[in-house]
Amino acid sequence: CGIVGYLGTSNAPPLLLSGLKHLEYRGYDSAGMAVIGANGLEIRRCVGRVSALEDLVHQQPISGSLGIAHTRWASHGKPSEENAHPHVDQARKIALVHNGIIENHAALRTCLSEKGVQFSSETDTEVLAQLIGCYYAQSGKLVCSVREALKMVQGTFGIAVICEDEPQTLIAARQGSPLLVGMVEHGEYLVASDPAALAGRAPQAVFLKDGEMAIVTPAGIELSTIDAEPVGVTFEAIDQTL
Ligand code: GLU
Repeated sequence: CGIVGYLGTSNAPPLLLSGLKHLEYRGYDSAGMAVIGANGLEIRRCVGRVSALEDLVHQQPISGSLGIAHTRWASHGKPSEENAHPHVDQARKIALVHNGIIENHAALRTCLSEKGVQFSSETDTEVLAQLIGCYYAQSGKLVCSVREALKMVQGTFGIAVICEDEPQTLIAARQGSPLLVGMVEHGEYLVASDPAALAGRAPQAVFLKDGEMAIVTPAGIELSTIDAEPVGVTFEAIDQTL
């Protein structure tokens, strides 16, 4: 339902929580975040409010300057900690948050299970995380793995993806679910599913179109189609009163 991502030099969790709070009005049943820092990939998830996630992060702190966060409105699988996003691949290197529905999740799950993948949730989303992980285990190339996996899925998605091996890369892609990348300043970016999460932080943003993918690094935003055709980057002003 709600996505926030951060890449920069500040500590991500407080910024992710603040972004999620701006998206609470949309409704949700659970919340979670993944951060990459000195301890590698760390995840906190819970059923209930963003304030419950905030409490959890206070009790069991995580830190890092790259992270993704989500408020989930369950479509596939009951509201539970296991089904809350972010979801990870089997190697626990890649974390993903997802808005939308992967329509061919059952067929992909069967195919991945036959290859020995063990699932830890009932969601359509985990299928995509595991699929990216399978490609990554073969190639070691994150961006290519996300592209290959997205070519396999049918349905709608707005996603944000991070990987422990690439602590300076945040990937965002959309098909039928809104997503934008706000520039806080050079080298500092926020990904969100709704401009409300950027108001007061990012004066301008790139709104992804269906079938587009953004690769965000400290050097900037690289935009392309999911098939790797380059797309020009155009910033739009964000309404700061949202
Ligand atoms: N289909 C996904 C799930 O049920 C995402 C739901 C959402 O958009 O929040 O986990």
